[in-house]
Amino acid sequence: MSTLEAIKQEDESLLFRTYGRYPLTADRALGSRLWDLDGKEYIDLLAGIAVTSLGHCHPEIAEAVAAQAHKLVHTSNLLYQKEMLALAKRLLATTHFGKAFFCNSGAEANEAAIKLARRYQQRVKNKDAYEIITFEGCFHGRTLATVAATGQPKFQDGFAPMPEGFNRIAYGDPAALEAAISGKTAAVLLEMVQGEGGIRPATPEFAQAVARICKEKGLLFMVDEVQTGLCRTGKWWCFQHFGVQPDVLTTAKALANGLPMGAMLGSDEVAKAFVPGKHATTFGGGALLSVVAAKVLEIMERDKLMERAAQLGTWAMERFRAIGERCPGCIREVRGMGLMIGIDLAFPGQEVWKALLQKGFILNLTQDTVLRLVPALTIDKADLEAFAAALEELLKQKQA
Ligand SMILES: *Cc1c(COP(=O)(O)O)cnc(C)c1O
Repeated sequence: MSTLEAIKQEDESLLFRTYGRYPLTADRALGSRLWDLDGKEYIDLLAGIAVTSLGHCHPEIAEAVAAQAHKLVHTSNLLYQKEMLALAKRLLATTHFGKAFFCNSGAEANEAAIKLARRYQQRVKNKDAYEIITFEGCFHGRTLATVAATGQPKFQDGFAPMPEGFNRIAYGDPAALEAAISGKTAAVLLEMVQGEGGIRPATPEFAQAVARICKEKGLLFMVDEVQTGLCRTGKWWCFQHFGVQPDVLTTAKALANGLPMGAMLGSDEVAKAFVPGKHATTFGGGALLSVVAAKVLEIMERDKLMERAAQLGTWAMERFRAIGERCPGCIREVRGMGLMIGIDLAFPGQEVWKALLQKGFILNLTQDTVLRLVPALTIDKADLEAFAAALEELLKQKQA
């Protein structure tokens, strides 16, 4: 029995069966390279699902972890935390927001935003409003409230009853949004580029319409940048492409380059909704994580990774579109922003995905037909080129 087969059997016997896993286990990784148990080398275009944006085992991050682990790891939010303040300063300086709250994941950041929106309307505005409007194809997390916000039946199956107060409407249609708003609407929650939903960017017109409608109707405009944030789309934050100013932003994935951390950012006005005792988390923003996240931001800024993501992403999408032209009937569309790219195949992609994995390319297949690439922002152009060549070869074989 192969080692991988033994691991698979243990996985099935010891762990809750929550994941359909790839036939792969990593032994070690560096930058955009990853090695399995047999020493086979892979090019990682997934980066832990848009998490290790600086690449695996970035030496400066490893150093920051080690140094802080010897100094101070966790004291709780009952104490003032200077490391969290240093991080908040850095993070807020990338935005127009005035306040930060730190937590441990994307779902938790969205939970915080949902609670904030309800309490802002009910206690600051004295309105009996609680409903959050979200969009078809969105993904906001796996807690009960964020599954309700996500609104895709496959994620809700068997978990009834869903928490109340979520209304999912058509994506990209301002008229549908206006029609859905009532006296009980508290906020709109929008993913700037739908990730799990198949890499579907909002148009600037739609983002601007959502911002305008929220302002007119007194709703909070909240953006879920758990996946799009932190330079991935070519700016610090995806909303900054669209000339809009949301009231609340949530982020997580890349914030601590693989250690679990999330954040909610908001305006000083909406921050009035939270007072001591109304929201909390034991681990959120601890000293170790805060030092690591501040280091991540420092490196992103110093190495201009937002510009790198924009340039490489534009090049890669053109490269992939050219494959589509040389291989008619293979690629329906190439979508994305920066290094968040979806190659929408004209047929179910399982076979191509699997062949790519065998050739040494790790990526994700979402919505059945979309090859999702969310590589490290530090990835070499040559690695993307190697992937493009392998994909082209496979598609041509398939056509023949
Ligand atoms: C991954 C993701 C989440 C959930 O984050 P977790 O850390 O898994 O809880 C929420 N929203 C978006 C847009 C995501 O991509």
